[in-house]
Amino acid sequence: MSTPNDPTRCPLCGQSNHCTQADPARAGEDCWCFSTPIDPAALARIPPADIDRACLCPRCAQALPPDAPN
Ligand SMILES: [Zn+2]
Repeated sequence: MSTPNDPTRCPLCGQSNHCTQADPARAGEDCWCFSTPIDPAALARIPPADIDRACLCPRCAQALPPDAPN
């Protein structure tokens, strides 16, 4: 058995994706992804099993380096 994918974590880097839609306490709020452009190359890197299941984190969505200072 493999570990179920966590919908609150980015499928590319494993960090929290800050998705309000994945958090029952905040599900009615607008998510950052509603207003942030998503890099098509980042979308293309999502494993097929995670498409439409787990959101990208803001950094991966914009193709930023994971640990860019500030
Ligand atoms: Zn990420």
